[in-house]
Amino acid sequence: MLEGIIIKGISGFYYVEVEDTIYECKARGIFRKKNKTPLVGDRVSISLVDEAEKKAIIEEIHPRVSELVRPPVANINKVMITFSVKEPNPNFLLLDRFIVFSEREGLDIVIVLTKTDLDQDKKISKSIKAEFEKIGYRVIAVSTQTGENMQEVLEELEGNISVFAGQSGVGKSSIINYIAPGINLATAEISQKLGRGKHTTRHAELFKIGKNAIIADTPGFSSFELNDIDIEELQEYFIEFEEYRTCRFASKCIHKNEPGCGVKEAVEEGKISKRRYENYLQILDEINNLKGKLKRNL
Ligand code: GDP
Ligand code: ZN
Repeated sequence: MLEGIIIKGISGFYYVEVEDTIYECKARGIFRKKNKTPLVGDRVSISLVDEAEKKAIIEEIHPRVSELVRPPVANINKVMITFSVKEPNPNFLLLDRFIVFSEREGLDIVIVLTKTDLDQDKKISKSIKAEFEKIGYRVIAVSTQTGENMQEVLEELEGNISVFAGQSGVGKSSIINYIAPGINLATAEISQKLGRGKHTTRHAELFKIGKNAIIADTPGFSSFELNDIDIEELQEYFIEFEEYRTCRFASKCIHKNEPGCGVKEAVEEGKISKRRYENYLQILDEINNLKGKLKRNL
């Protein structure tokens, strides 16, 4: 048996890469019976059916490190949360939502700040970098125009299965094309020329770049649901709150209106970013509204 990784799945066929050879595989019927579908990203054992034609059968799915539901990809362990200093301007609420989602999935988080060539005096990128580094996140400020810090992005990808997350137009495809020109992901410009929108549903697909880096091209990662997060749970995904959770109502405190709240105090003293706290409240409200709706529907 050979071991490999599913890099692509199309209508019942799985494409499994084993040391640079790609096998077209079917999955054993047993997986269907067990209600366990192979996912892109799965590490699998395969048995050959036809060596010359590179056909094989998936015999075993190895335990998963992670499993994203939307898009359905297994074993992603790192997320490169990407947003631009300009064009489009940073959307910090969206950024914090990505962080919440990624913290919840237990992914390693790297923040990639793009298009620094549009920020001549580096004022915007410096202040954003400082804000998120203070929380404890790795921030890489890059430009595909000047090549600034692109090597660092590549280093972050080495040895991981990563996904680039971020709203459309921030430069995700441009970064990947810069690092791995062979891949040729459609950037906004190209897809306009071809006359197809960026939202044509493609299946998740993995690409190997460099020696040891795998990235998932997953258009669907741009949206996600908050409705399975509990109100009391949200604070865990704002990691800088942790050391200030000395609230009078302890674990019951959601840091909103409660008296004697350590988190609110830290915001007032400038120890926690006001903007992050406001986004926390905003997301808290959204979750609250969602739960309210669910209850009414019962
Ligand atoms: P995606 O939707 O996140 O994949 O974004 P794209 O890679 O398609 O880029 C969107 C637009 O931003 C394109 O017109 C790119 O040429 C442009 N762009 C990408 N990176 C940079 C950059 O570093 N600097 C500047 N000025 N423009 C960039
Ligand atoms: Zn509190």
